[in-house]
Amino acid sequence: MSQLSAFEYIRRGQLPFFRLATAEPDETCDAVIVGVPWDQSVTYRSGARFAPWELRRASALIQTHHPVHRLDVFERLRAVDGGNIAIPPFDARAARSVIQTEATRVLESGAALFAVGGDHSISLPLLRAVREVHGPIAVVHVDAHFDTSSGELWGEDFHHGTPFRHALLEGLIAQDGLHQIGIRATWGSADEASFAADRGSRIYPMSRIDDGGIAQIACEIRESLGNAPFYLSFDIDAVDPAFAPGTTIPVAGGLTSRDAIRLMRGLAGANLVGMDLVEVCPSLDHADITLHLGAQLLYEGLALLALAKRQS
Ligand code: MN
Ligand code: MN
Repeated sequence: MSQLSAFEYIRRGQLPFFRLATAEPDETCDAVIVGVPWDQSVTYRSGARFAPWELRRASALIQTHHPVHRLDVFERLRAVDGGNIAIPPFDARAARSVIQTEATRVLESGAALFAVGGDHSISLPLLRAVREVHGPIAVVHVDAHFDTSSGELWGEDFHHGTPFRHALLEGLIAQDGLHQIGIRATWGSADEASFAADRGSRIYPMSRIDDGGIAQIACEIRESLGNAPFYLSFDIDAVDPAFAPGTTIPVAGGLTSRDAIRLMRGLAGANLVGMDLVEVCPSLDHADITLHLGAQLLYEGLALLALAKRQS
């Protein structure tokens, strides 16, 4: 349940997330990090299925002491690498089913779930699992896109552009509990801009971040979350392609890596019960820029959990 030293990690030649032990989730775990290697639901560039392996490699460089929160994240948390969810590669419905089952198993053990995609379609079964265990809760969704498209364009209702439409329609998210940050991509139809807003979603487009800064927005979201449990879904394309080139659908004009980290740190004290990091495509990355940011964002999520544990 402990963490390997950097030396032991090199000695063993294994690549668990953050040099943690690999273990099955049980009631002693605070956090279980699982890979979700699914990218068959993308509308553009594929490759996100390999992110769990590559993010393990990048995460091995991250040390345990948080430079701002001033705590030892992996001393505070019993965190393990839960391995990857074994997904049937040709059947999206079966994939959603196994992802939901495995996520539910982790959450029912009492641990927080950190799911490493994979494309953004995995968030729908993950949110279904969260609802099963925690009921409908607030969701912080960081993305260049609304991800509330319908099946109209592609004749397929379930892909990486639709998870939040289904989540809202299925009542997976608490009333007025969806916060969408970093939105800036062009829309396919006028309805795309209004679908979530009409259902109480709070939208923080890039224009608002440009005007008011990310710190103010983090503060607003933090206040709104209170002490209630919340889920965080981080699509790496929320970050500008200059800082995160390795992604499925890059969109110019996004968050800086500093904005992304500041947003995560600004949620300190909030009650995180699950997080996903999606749309990281290692084969499209340059010099591991996206991987190192992705690993840092996962660490920041784990730090939020560690902070909440210190307070309780
Ligand atoms: Mn996106
Ligand atoms: Mn997305």
